[in-house]
Amino acid sequence: MPIDNSSKRDIRALDLEALRAFFESHNQQAFRADQVYQWLWQKGAHSFEVMTNLSKATRELLDASFVINHIAVDRQQRSADKTIKNAIRLHDGLTIESVLIPTETRSTACVSSQVGCSLDCTFCATSQLKRMRNLNPDEIYDQVMALDSQSRLYFDRPLSNIVFMGMGEPLMNYKNVIMAVDKITAGLGMSPKRITISTSGIPKMIEKLADENPKFQLAVSLHSAREEVRNSIMPFSTSFELPILLKSLQYWYLKTQSKVTFEYLIWKGINDTQMDIDALVAYAKKVPSKVNIIEYNPTDAADFKAADKEVIERYKQALERARITVTVRRSRGKDIDAACGQLANKLVPLEH
Ligand code: SF4
Repeated sequence: MPIDNSSKRDIRALDLEALRAFFESHNQQAFRADQVYQWLWQKGAHSFEVMTNLSKATRELLDASFVINHIAVDRQQRSADKTIKNAIRLHDGLTIESVLIPTETRSTACVSSQVGCSLDCTFCATSQLKRMRNLNPDEIYDQVMALDSQSRLYFDRPLSNIVFMGMGEPLMNYKNVIMAVDKITAGLGMSPKRITISTSGIPKMIEKLADENPKFQLAVSLHSAREEVRNSIMPFSTSFELPILLKSLQYWYLKTQSKVTFEYLIWKGINDTQMDIDALVAYAKKVPSKVNIIEYNPTDAADFKAADKEVIERYKQALERARITVTVRRSRGKDIDAACGQLANKLVPLEH
């Protein structure tokens, strides 16, 4: 008969203190909790059975009391440039996507923070998917661990960077994202400087984040420094006007001394005029920042077409003249690598 796990708690929802209390209440030494915690958050254990430094009785006690709700890589799609897109099944049957993006020297994990998204960026297919729920810290952690294993397996090296640019708005799942980053840095021994949280730009949350003085990087999907243009492609931004966003970014820099990265897609007929270029330069000059221009990879959003190469070049030159660091990022993996959320737009079909 199948075991009914539905009434058991997910052990990874407990912090170390709660786990210690659990052991004490079962007349076991509290340090067992540290061992279990290590298995869960450093060794990525998905069953109690593998926790071999615990007695059989302790493992049975854990098994009778808890579950470990881990993710499963359902399907995988590999691009000619070696980018790997994963469809990830969560314990409740919902699906998200995570991408491993390798270059010559680096492996970058692009992870999701929510199932779907409640924001409404018109160029992003994730916005078509209703936001179902936030991801738990363990579900974010598991994505990273899965991609780290893939990087070791296929490219013979651990992950070098992590970006929160998958499905969802990370700052709308603030607590869980912060908790996940803590677990990831401890679990993988990775410097937080190699982790980037990419937001669509929610000023209050950026300020809250700045107050915590985190050591990770902040990226903002800007895409236009002209209010009316930004409002049209990111309608939610009418509530977060550009000057207010700027103030929050200045506050971020004041608190963290860490430059903001502006993610910037350029589309034909939307933000490809000199006025758009001048607006971006003027905006970026007001806060210590870098600009990351991402070549647009046409998707199903028919209204959006990649800008001409010469427009990208004009943007680049104008930013350089203003002494703003600018990089132009080649699209990686068909329909995969773009700003926040874009990679989450093809849930099907994926190849095994
Ligand atoms: S671009 Fe990011 S914030 Fe905007 S709808 Fe897509 S996932 Fe949400």
